Amino acid sequence: MNTLKEIAKMLLKAQNEKILLFPHVNMDGDALGSSAALCSVLQKLGKTAYILTEDDTAYNIEFLDRGYCVRVDETTVGTPDVCICMDCGSTDRFAARAEVFENGAVSVCIDHHITSKPIFDMNYIDGSAAATGEIVYDLIKELENASGRTLFDAEIGEAIFAAIATDTGNFQYSNTTEKSHLIAAALLKIGTDESGVCVKIYQNAKLSRIKLNAAAVDNMKLFADGRAAIATVTQDMIDACDAEMSEADGIAETMRNIRGVEISVLLKEYGRDEVKVSMRAKSYADVAKIAAGFGGGGHVRAAGCTLRMKISEAEKIMTEAVSEALQKEMQ
Ligand code: 5GP
Ligand code: MN
Repeated sequence: MNTLKEIAKMLLKAQNEKILLFPHVNMDGDALGSSAALCSVLQKLGKTAYILTEDDTAYNIEFLDRGYCVRVDETTVGTPDVCICMDCGSTDRFAARAEVFENGAVSVCIDHHITSKPIFDMNYIDGSAAATGEIVYDLIKELENASGRTLFDAEIGEAIFAAIATDTGNFQYSNTTEKSHLIAAALLKIGTDESGVCVKIYQNAKLSRIKLNAAAVDNMKLFADGRAAIATVTQDMIDACDAEMSEADGIAETMRNIRGVEISVLLKEYGRDEVKVSMRAKSYADVAKIAAGFGGGGHVRAAGCTLRMKISEAEKIMTEAVSEALQKEMQ
């Protein structure tokens, strides 16, 4: 593991002109917010920096992309000087961009997932950080110290606030710390419009999103004596609601809101044999462990994996795995 000071020093080196950021697929507010904040700062420092992506950005977080994101299929990348893995710990999390990442002269990981291992040239993985955005906040401070320049501004504040707000469930989840609040306070001080960010992310839903939520809740099943809930979002449902898959974000949280439910599971059908699993836990279960059993990972209370099978089969397998995990908790 490295210190943020070491990473800041490396980033500032004169020969490091081209720096690419690699957030995980299906970017959430933290992946995009932390990447946008760092990208903005690197550009201020005179670097050629951008966020390389491989899929569409969810519409409710698109405002964070102020021209930073470039699609891998729409650009010729050349040889980057530095490649940074953001909010994830392996190139499996951005498979369509893995080759470009490997071409980087220096590879870096900036992440807060407990399931990530320090496998790159430089690594800063802090499982106690509520969001990668918190780590980026500290990294920007180090970049300010090392460069002698003021780098924070209200736009960077918005990006970091969005990262922390989304990963902490608006400062509600157990990963929220004193530091999360202190950073939010510091961002307010520099003029960040925090409530404006919340309106854009949470109070900006298309009707299709609400309909998709309703359809998923409609097919939801409770199991394990009401301690778990599972629902599916199929391609047929997406078509019927005229929605996109990113609008399924939040359904797992809705199911977890139910009284007595400890684990919620949402199965998203990306293809006939590709099901993305999102799990959430409320107060004691370890869903990162369950996800890791299927080649995925994440946090103790929010984790995921991908299953290469039909959605009906995935439902059976996840129901069994979650029942078993809850059974063990009871022993
Ligand atoms: P979500 O359910 O919102 O997609 O993901 C919840 C958390 O688990 C996020 O922090 C996300 O990065 C992580 N996660 C989701 N899917 C995977 C996966 O397939 N592999 C790993 N390592 N982490 C995942
Ligand atoms: Mn995160």
